[in-house]
Amino acid sequence: MLLDEVLESNKKFVEKFNEIKLSPIPRKKLAIVTCMDTRLTDGFLEQAMGIKRGDAKIIKNAGNNVLNHDVIRSVAAAIFALGVEEVMLVGHHDCGMTRVGAEKLKITMVERGISTNEIAKVDIQKWIGAIESEESNVIKGVEKIKNSSFIPDDIPVHGLIIDPLTGIVDVLYNGYEVQI
Ligand SMILES: [Zn+2]
Repeated sequence: MLLDEVLESNKKFVEKFNEIKLSPIPRKKLAIVTCMDTRLTDGFLEQAMGIKRGDAKIIKNAGNNVLNHDVIRSVAAAIFALGVEEVMLVGHHDCGMTRVGAEKLKITMVERGISTNEIAKVDIQKWIGAIESEESNVIKGVEKIKNSSFIPDDIPVHGLIIDPLTGIVDVLYNGYEVQI
C-alpha cells in the first residue's frame, strides 16, 4: 500500500537527515503562488527559481487560481504574520486545468456517486477552477491579488510562467514596473 511505502521512505529519510534549524519567516521575504502540478514538485520549481528551504512561502492549488478567498488569505497571512514583502504568481505551460471540460467532469462525478442535485447548484467549470489559457490566468490572478483590499499597495506582485519541461521562466507581469 502507498501509505506503507511512504512511511518506509520516511524512516530511511529520517535516519539520514541532519536537522537544520530554519525560521518560519522566509529569508527572501517572498510568497509564491503556484500550481499543484506533479512536474513542479521535488524542488523543480524552487531550483528553477533559486529558492532554497526557508526562503519562501509556497501556496499551491489546482491551476494556481486566485478564485477564492483562500489564496488571498494565505498571501495576507504571509504578508502580515510571516514577514513577506513580495509575491510571485507562477503559472506553467501545459496546465491540466486548461483541459477540464464541464460535461466530462459532470459524468465522472456522477459515476463516482456525487449527487446530480449538488452538481446542478454550481457552475461546475468555474467551481473546479478550469482555465482557458495559462497566461491570461496568471494575469487575472495578479490583478485579483493586487486589487484585494487586504493586500497593501506597496507589495510587488509579479506574474511568471514556467515551462515544466525545460524550467524556463518568463515574466508576464513585472510587479516593479506594471501598475494594474
Ligand atoms: Zn497546472
